[in-house]
Amino acid sequence: MTDQTMLAQALHLRAKDLKKGEPIALPLVSSSMFHLPGDPNGYPGYGRVDNPTWEALEHLLSHLEDAPCVAFPSGMGAISAALFSTLKAGDRLLVPSDGYYVTRVLSQEFLAGLGVQVDERPTKDYDTLDVTKYKVVFLETPSNPGLDLCDIQGIAQRVRAAGGITIVDNTTMTPLGQRPLDLGADIVVASDTKAPSGHSDLLMGHVATRDAAVLERVRNWRKMSGGIPSPHAAWLLHRGLETLDVRLERMCRTAMSVAQRLKSHPMINALRYPGLEADPSYELATTQMSCFGFLLSLTLETEDLAEQFIAGCAFLRPTTSFGGVHSSAERRARWGDQVAPGFVRLSVGCEPEQALIADLLSSLDKLN
Ligand SMILES: *Cc1c(COP(=O)(O)O)cnc(C)c1O
Repeated sequence: MTDQTMLAQALHLRAKDLKKGEPIALPLVSSSMFHLPGDPNGYPGYGRVDNPTWEALEHLLSHLEDAPCVAFPSGMGAISAALFSTLKAGDRLLVPSDGYYVTRVLSQEFLAGLGVQVDERPTKDYDTLDVTKYKVVFLETPSNPGLDLCDIQGIAQRVRAAGGITIVDNTTMTPLGQRPLDLGADIVVASDTKAPSGHSDLLMGHVATRDAAVLERVRNWRKMSGGIPSPHAAWLLHRGLETLDVRLERMCRTAMSVAQRLKSHPMINALRYPGLEADPSYELATTQMSCFGFLLSLTLETEDLAEQFIAGCAFLRPTTSFGGVHSSAERRARWGDQVAPGFVRLSVGCEPEQALIADLLSSLDKLN
Protein backbone atom coordinates (compact mmCIF):
# COMPACT_ATOMS: atom_id res chain seq x y z
CA MET A 1 0.00 0.00 0.00
CA THR A 2 1.07 3.53 -0.68
CA ASP A 3 2.24 5.47 2.38
CA GLN A 4 -0.86 6.84 4.17
CA THR A 5 0.92 9.83 5.66
CA MET A 6 2.13 10.86 2.20
CA LEU A 7 -1.46 10.62 0.89
CA ALA A 8 -2.85 12.64 3.79
CA GLN A 9 -0.15 15.29 3.32
CA ALA A 10 -1.08 15.51 -0.37
CA LEU A 11 -4.45 16.99 0.65
CA HIS A 12 -2.84 19.61 2.90
CA LEU A 13 0.18 20.62 0.84
CA ARG A 14 -0.98 24.20 0.31
CA ALA A 15 -1.81 24.79 3.95
CA LYS A 16 1.63 25.67 5.24
CA ASP A 17 2.08 28.56 2.80
CA LEU A 18 -1.38 30.09 3.29
CA LYS A 19 -1.73 33.54 4.78
CA LYS A 20 -4.81 34.49 6.78
CA GLY A 21 -7.83 35.03 4.53
CA GLU A 22 -6.42 33.19 1.50
CA PRO A 23 -8.52 30.56 -0.30
CA ILE A 24 -8.15 26.89 0.70
CA ALA A 25 -8.95 25.72 -2.84
CA LEU A 26 -6.30 26.39 -5.48
CA PRO A 27 -6.90 29.67 -7.36
CA LEU A 28 -6.82 29.47 -11.17
CA VAL A 29 -4.38 32.05 -12.55
CA SER A 30 -4.31 32.49 -16.31
CA SER A 31 -2.32 35.72 -16.62
CA SER A 32 0.33 35.88 -19.35
CA MET A 33 1.91 38.96 -17.73
CA PHE A 34 3.11 39.72 -14.22
CA HIS A 35 3.65 43.04 -12.44
CA LEU A 36 7.43 43.26 -12.77
CA PRO A 37 9.11 46.64 -12.17
CA GLY A 38 12.93 46.81 -11.85
CA ASP A 39 15.04 43.68 -11.27
CA PRO A 40 13.01 40.70 -12.60
CA ASN A 41 15.13 37.98 -10.97
CA GLY A 42 13.27 35.60 -8.69
CA TYR A 43 9.78 36.62 -9.87
CA PRO A 44 7.38 35.14 -12.40
CA GLY A 45 8.21 36.78 -15.73
CA TYR A 46 6.08 35.58 -18.60
CA GLY A 47 3.26 33.06 -19.06
CA ARG A 48 5.19 30.67 -21.32
CA VAL A 49 7.75 30.19 -18.55
CA ASP A 50 5.94 30.74 -15.25
CA ASN A 51 2.45 30.13 -13.98
CA PRO A 52 1.40 29.86 -10.33
CA THR A 53 -1.29 27.24 -11.12
CA TRP A 54 1.28 24.99 -12.85
CA GLU A 55 3.58 25.45 -9.91
CA ALA A 56 0.93 24.30 -7.44
CA LEU A 57 0.16 21.31 -9.66
CA GLU A 58 3.86 20.43 -9.94
CA HIS A 59 4.20 20.73 -6.17
CA LEU A 60 1.45 18.14 -5.73
CA LEU A 61 2.76 15.87 -8.52
CA SER A 62 6.26 16.07 -7.02
CA HIS A 63 4.88 15.08 -3.65
CA LEU A 64 3.14 12.04 -5.16
CA GLU A 65 6.18 11.05 -7.27
CA ASP A 66 8.70 11.90 -4.52
CA ALA A 67 10.69 13.63 -7.28
CA PRO A 68 10.70 16.98 -9.09
CA CYS A 69 8.07 17.10 -11.87
CA VAL A 70 7.42 19.20 -14.96
CA ALA A 71 3.82 19.40 -16.22
CA PHE A 72 2.97 19.14 -19.93
CA PRO A 73 -0.21 19.70 -21.97
CA SER A 74 -0.55 15.95 -22.71
CA GLY A 75 1.10 12.61 -22.10
CA MET A 76 2.71 12.86 -25.55
CA GLY A 77 3.99 16.33 -24.63
CA ALA A 78 5.76 14.74 -21.65
CA ILE A 79 7.06 11.80 -23.69
CA SER A 80 8.37 14.13 -26.43
CA ALA A 81 10.13 16.27 -23.83
CA ALA A 82 11.82 13.24 -22.24
CA LEU A 83 12.97 11.78 -25.57
CA PHE A 84 14.10 15.04 -27.19
CA SER A 85 15.95 16.02 -23.97
CA THR A 86 17.98 12.80 -23.77
CA LEU A 87 18.71 11.72 -27.38
CA LYS A 88 20.99 13.05 -30.11
CA ALA A 89 22.08 11.89 -33.58
CA GLY A 90 23.91 8.57 -33.49
CA ASP A 91 22.18 7.34 -30.30
CA ARG A 92 20.11 4.16 -30.18
CA LEU A 93 16.61 4.10 -28.71
CA LEU A 94 14.56 1.07 -27.70
CA VAL A 95 10.76 1.40 -27.61
CA PRO A 96 8.11 -1.28 -27.00
CA SER A 97 6.48 -2.71 -30.13
CA ASP A 98 3.33 -3.42 -28.08
CA GLY A 99 3.13 -0.17 -26.08
CA TYR A 100 1.19 3.03 -26.66
CA TYR A 101 1.48 3.35 -30.45
CA VAL A 102 2.04 7.11 -30.73
CA THR A 103 5.37 6.78 -28.89
CA ARG A 104 6.52 4.43 -31.67
CA VAL A 105 5.22 6.68 -34.43
CA LEU A 106 6.89 9.74 -32.89
CA SER A 107 10.18 7.86 -32.66
CA GLN A 108 10.06 6.54 -36.22
CA GLU A 109 8.74 9.72 -37.87
CA PHE A 110 10.74 12.36 -36.06
CA LEU A 111 13.65 10.94 -34.04
CA ALA A 112 14.77 8.50 -36.75
CA GLY A 113 14.83 11.42 -39.20
CA LEU A 114 17.21 13.27 -36.87
CA GLY A 115 19.68 10.37 -36.83
CA VAL A 116 18.48 8.33 -33.84
CA GLN A 117 18.39 4.58 -34.49
CA VAL A 118 15.05 3.26 -33.25
CA ASP A 119 14.47 -0.42 -32.35
CA GLU A 120 11.12 -1.94 -31.37
CA ARG A 121 10.74 -5.07 -29.23
CA PRO A 122 7.79 -6.60 -27.36
CA THR A 123 7.57 -5.81 -23.64
CA LYS A 124 7.80 -9.44 -22.62
CA ASP A 125 11.24 -9.69 -24.30
CA TYR A 126 12.75 -6.71 -22.47
CA ASP A 127 13.97 -8.81 -19.52
CA THR A 128 16.20 -10.94 -21.73
CA LEU A 129 17.28 -8.32 -24.30
CA ASP A 130 20.77 -6.88 -24.52
CA VAL A 131 19.91 -3.37 -23.36
CA THR A 132 23.52 -2.23 -23.05
CA LYS A 133 23.74 -0.80 -26.59
CA TYR A 134 21.00 1.75 -26.04
CA LYS A 135 21.36 5.36 -24.95
CA VAL A 136 17.69 5.34 -23.97
CA VAL A 137 15.53 2.35 -23.07
CA PHE A 138 11.86 3.35 -23.05
CA LEU A 139 9.48 0.88 -21.45
CA GLU A 140 5.85 0.61 -20.50
CA THR A 141 4.66 -1.87 -17.86
CA PRO A 142 1.97 -3.13 -17.80
CA SER A 143 1.99 -2.50 -21.54
CA ASN A 144 -1.03 -0.86 -23.09
CA PRO A 145 -3.10 -2.69 -24.31
CA GLY A 146 -1.58 -6.21 -23.97
CA LEU A 147 -0.89 -5.99 -20.21
CA ASP A 148 2.49 -7.74 -20.37
CA LEU A 149 5.00 -6.77 -17.69
CA CYS A 150 8.75 -6.34 -17.60
CA ASP A 151 11.09 -6.07 -14.61
CA ILE A 152 11.78 -2.35 -14.09
CA GLN A 153 14.48 -2.85 -11.46
CA GLY A 154 16.44 -5.45 -13.43
CA ILE A 155 16.30 -3.49 -16.69
CA ALA A 156 17.14 -0.12 -15.09
CA GLN A 157 20.14 -1.68 -13.35
CA ARG A 158 21.55 -3.12 -16.58
CA VAL A 159 20.90 0.07 -18.55
CA ARG A 160 22.53 2.25 -15.90
CA ALA A 161 25.59 0.00 -15.65
CA ALA A 162 26.09 0.51 -19.40
CA GLY A 163 25.72 4.30 -19.11
CA GLY A 164 22.21 4.50 -20.57
CA ILE A 165 18.95 6.09 -19.42
CA THR A 166 15.72 4.27 -18.56
CA ILE A 167 12.42 6.04 -19.19
CA VAL A 168 9.24 4.40 -17.84
CA ASP A 169 5.78 5.28 -19.13
CA ASN A 170 3.81 4.83 -15.90
CA THR A 171 0.41 5.87 -17.27
CA THR A 172 -1.37 2.60 -16.60
CA MET A 173 -0.40 2.51 -12.89
CA THR A 174 0.03 6.16 -11.74
CA PRO A 175 2.52 7.02 -8.96
CA LEU A 176 0.16 5.43 -6.42
CA GLY A 177 0.31 2.01 -8.09
CA GLN A 178 3.94 1.75 -9.19
CA ARG A 179 7.11 3.73 -8.38
CA PRO A 180 9.63 3.31 -11.20
CA LEU A 181 12.08 5.91 -9.82
CA ASP A 182 12.36 3.92 -6.56
CA LEU A 183 13.07 0.85 -8.70
CA GLY A 184 16.02 2.60 -10.35
CA ALA A 185 14.51 4.21 -13.46
CA ASP A 186 15.89 7.64 -14.39
CA ILE A 187 12.73 9.25 -15.77
CA VAL A 188 8.99 8.66 -15.40
CA VAL A 189 6.60 9.95 -18.04
CA ALA A 190 2.84 9.74 -17.75
CA SER A 191 -0.40 10.75 -19.35
CA ASP A 192 -2.44 12.46 -16.64
CA THR A 193 -5.31 12.55 -19.10
CA LYS A 194 -6.21 9.10 -17.73
CA ALA A 195 -6.76 8.15 -14.07
CA PRO A 196 -4.98 11.16 -12.47
CA SER A 197 -7.52 13.60 -13.95
CA GLY A 198 -10.16 10.88 -13.79
CA HIS A 199 -13.12 12.74 -15.26
CA SER A 200 -12.28 12.65 -18.98
CA ASP A 201 -12.45 16.43 -19.27
CA LEU A 202 -8.81 17.37 -19.94
CA LEU A 203 -5.47 16.34 -21.41
CA MET A 204 -2.26 16.67 -19.36
CA GLY A 205 0.98 14.81 -18.71
CA HIS A 206 4.15 15.08 -16.65
CA VAL A 207 7.81 14.15 -16.47
CA ALA A 208 9.32 13.16 -13.09
CA THR A 209 13.06 12.75 -12.53
CA ARG A 210 15.61 12.99 -9.71
CA ASP A 211 18.38 13.75 -12.24
CA ALA A 212 18.96 17.52 -11.98
CA ALA A 213 20.54 17.84 -15.44
CA VAL A 214 17.67 15.98 -17.15
CA LEU A 215 15.15 18.04 -15.19
CA GLU A 216 16.67 21.29 -16.41
CA ARG A 217 16.69 20.13 -20.04
CA VAL A 218 13.05 18.97 -19.80
CA ARG A 219 12.06 22.33 -18.29
CA ASN A 220 13.95 24.19 -21.03
CA TRP A 221 12.32 22.01 -23.67
CA ARG A 222 8.91 23.12 -22.44
CA LYS A 223 9.96 26.75 -22.27
CA MET A 224 11.52 26.81 -25.75
CA SER A 225 9.25 24.46 -27.68
CA GLY A 226 6.27 26.39 -26.29
CA GLY A 227 4.34 23.17 -25.60
CA ILE A 228 2.91 24.45 -22.34
CA PRO A 229 -0.16 23.35 -20.33
CA SER A 230 -3.23 25.53 -20.19
CA PRO A 231 -3.69 26.89 -16.67
CA HIS A 232 -7.28 25.66 -16.70
CA ALA A 233 -6.26 22.06 -17.46
CA ALA A 234 -3.55 22.26 -14.79
CA TRP A 235 -6.12 23.50 -12.30
CA LEU A 236 -8.57 20.70 -13.16
CA LEU A 237 -5.81 18.09 -12.87
CA HIS A 238 -4.84 19.42 -9.43
CA ARG A 239 -8.44 18.93 -8.38
CA GLY A 240 -8.56 15.43 -9.88
CA LEU A 241 -5.38 14.37 -8.10
CA GLU A 242 -6.97 15.11 -4.74
CA THR A 243 -9.31 12.12 -5.24
CA LEU A 244 -6.96 9.83 -7.18
CA ASP A 245 -6.34 7.61 -4.17
CA VAL A 246 -10.05 7.08 -3.48
CA ARG A 247 -10.92 6.45 -7.13
CA LEU A 248 -7.98 4.16 -7.74
CA GLU A 249 -8.81 2.03 -4.72
CA ARG A 250 -12.38 1.51 -5.94
CA MET A 251 -11.32 0.95 -9.56
CA CYS A 252 -8.63 -1.64 -8.73
CA ARG A 253 -10.84 -3.53 -6.29
CA THR A 254 -13.68 -3.70 -8.80
CA ALA A 255 -11.28 -4.68 -11.61
CA MET A 256 -10.18 -7.69 -9.55
CA SER A 257 -13.79 -8.76 -8.99
CA VAL A 258 -14.62 -8.26 -12.67
CA ALA A 259 -11.61 -10.38 -13.67
CA GLN A 260 -12.62 -13.16 -11.29
CA ARG A 261 -16.25 -13.18 -12.40
CA LEU A 262 -15.59 -12.98 -16.15
CA LYS A 263 -12.51 -15.17 -16.55
CA SER A 264 -14.39 -18.44 -17.05
CA HIS A 265 -17.35 -17.05 -18.98
CA PRO A 266 -17.96 -19.28 -22.05
CA MET A 267 -18.02 -16.29 -24.45
CA ILE A 268 -14.53 -15.14 -23.39
CA ASN A 269 -11.60 -16.93 -25.02
CA ALA A 270 -8.90 -15.17 -23.01
CA LEU A 271 -8.77 -12.65 -20.19
CA ARG A 272 -5.69 -10.83 -18.89
CA TYR A 273 -5.47 -9.11 -15.51
CA PRO A 274 -2.16 -8.95 -13.66
CA GLY A 275 -3.99 -9.60 -10.36
CA LEU A 276 -5.12 -13.10 -11.31
CA GLU A 277 -2.77 -15.74 -9.91
CA ALA A 278 -2.90 -17.66 -13.18
CA ASP A 279 -1.84 -14.61 -15.23
CA PRO A 280 1.72 -14.80 -16.63
CA SER A 281 2.35 -11.31 -15.18
CA TYR A 282 1.13 -12.09 -11.66
CA GLU A 283 4.40 -12.86 -9.91
CA LEU A 284 6.25 -9.81 -11.22
CA ALA A 285 3.17 -7.66 -10.55
CA THR A 286 3.26 -8.58 -6.85
CA THR A 287 6.90 -7.48 -6.60
CA GLN A 288 6.81 -4.14 -8.45
CA MET A 289 3.20 -2.89 -8.29
CA SER A 290 1.31 -1.90 -5.14
CA CYS A 291 -2.05 -2.66 -6.77
CA PHE A 292 -2.99 -4.53 -9.94
CA GLY A 293 -4.52 -1.64 -11.82
CA PHE A 294 -7.93 -1.04 -13.38
CA LEU A 295 -7.27 -2.30 -16.93
CA LEU A 296 -8.27 -5.75 -18.17
CA SER A 297 -8.22 -7.28 -21.59
CA LEU A 298 -10.81 -9.74 -22.88
CA THR A 299 -10.67 -11.58 -26.15
CA LEU A 300 -13.92 -12.66 -27.75
CA GLU A 301 -14.16 -14.98 -30.74
CA THR A 302 -14.86 -12.32 -33.39
CA GLU A 303 -14.90 -8.59 -34.02
CA ASP A 304 -18.67 -8.75 -34.22
CA LEU A 305 -19.12 -10.40 -30.82
CA ALA A 306 -16.71 -7.92 -29.24
CA GLU A 307 -18.66 -4.96 -30.66
CA GLN A 308 -21.97 -6.51 -29.56
CA PHE A 309 -20.61 -7.04 -26.07
CA ILE A 310 -19.49 -3.41 -25.73
CA ALA A 311 -22.72 -2.06 -27.21
CA GLY A 312 -24.82 -4.26 -24.90
CA CYS A 313 -23.45 -2.76 -21.67
CA ALA A 314 -25.31 0.17 -20.16
CA PHE A 315 -22.37 0.99 -17.86
CA LEU A 316 -19.59 0.89 -20.44
CA ARG A 317 -18.75 3.84 -22.70
CA PRO A 318 -17.51 2.78 -26.12
CA THR A 319 -14.49 5.02 -26.35
CA THR A 320 -10.74 5.15 -26.74
CA SER A 321 -8.72 6.28 -23.73
CA PHE A 322 -9.26 5.00 -20.19
CA GLY A 323 -8.98 5.74 -16.49
CA GLY A 324 -12.19 7.78 -16.10
CA VAL A 325 -14.85 7.42 -13.41
CA HIS A 326 -17.08 5.75 -16.03
CA SER A 327 -16.01 2.30 -17.21
CA SER A 328 -15.04 2.23 -20.87
CA ALA A 329 -13.99 -0.25 -23.51
CA GLU A 330 -12.88 -0.58 -27.10
CA ARG A 331 -11.57 -3.05 -29.64
CA ARG A 332 -7.94 -2.09 -30.03
CA ALA A 333 -7.60 -3.68 -33.48
CA ARG A 334 -9.63 -0.78 -34.85
CA TRP A 335 -6.50 1.37 -34.38
CA GLY A 336 -4.14 -1.23 -35.82
CA ASP A 337 -2.72 -2.57 -32.52
CA GLN A 338 -1.24 -6.05 -33.04
CA VAL A 339 -4.07 -7.85 -31.22
CA ALA A 340 -6.90 -10.22 -32.22
CA PRO A 341 -9.97 -8.64 -33.89
CA GLY A 342 -12.08 -9.61 -30.85
CA PHE A 343 -9.59 -8.15 -28.31
CA VAL A 344 -11.25 -5.63 -25.98
CA ARG A 345 -9.43 -3.31 -23.57
CA LEU A 346 -11.67 -2.70 -20.58
CA SER A 347 -11.08 0.19 -18.18
CA VAL A 348 -12.94 -0.26 -14.91
CA GLY A 349 -14.40 2.95 -13.48
CA CYS A 350 -16.07 3.92 -10.22
CA GLU A 351 -19.52 2.34 -10.67
CA PRO A 352 -20.62 0.26 -7.66
CA GLU A 353 -19.14 -3.19 -8.19
CA GLN A 354 -22.22 -5.41 -8.22
CA ALA A 355 -24.11 -3.17 -10.64
CA LEU A 356 -21.19 -3.12 -13.07
CA ILE A 357 -20.57 -6.87 -12.93
CA ALA A 358 -24.28 -7.63 -13.43
CA ASP A 359 -24.29 -5.34 -16.47
CA LEU A 360 -21.17 -6.94 -18.03
CA LEU A 361 -22.49 -10.46 -17.43
CA SER A 362 -25.90 -9.64 -18.85
CA SER A 363 -24.34 -8.35 -22.08
CA LEU A 364 -22.10 -11.44 -22.35
CA ASP A 365 -25.07 -13.77 -21.73
CA LYS A 366 -27.00 -12.12 -24.57
CA LEU A 367 -24.27 -12.83 -27.16
CA ASN A 368 -24.81 -15.49 -29.77
C1 LIG B 1 -2.78 7.87 -23.43
C2 LIG B 1 -1.37 7.43 -23.29
C3 LIG B 1 -0.31 8.23 -23.69
C4 LIG B 1 -0.53 9.58 -24.36
O1 LIG B 1 -1.16 10.48 -23.53
P1 LIG B 1 -1.98 11.77 -24.08
O2 LIG B 1 -2.35 12.47 -22.83
O3 LIG B 1 -3.13 11.24 -24.87
O4 LIG B 1 -1.03 12.54 -24.94
C5 LIG B 1 0.96 7.78 -23.50
N1 LIG B 1 1.20 6.56 -22.96
C6 LIG B 1 0.21 5.75 -22.57
C7 LIG B 1 0.54 4.43 -21.98
C8 LIG B 1 -1.11 6.15 -22.74
O5 LIG B 1 -2.10 5.32 -22.38
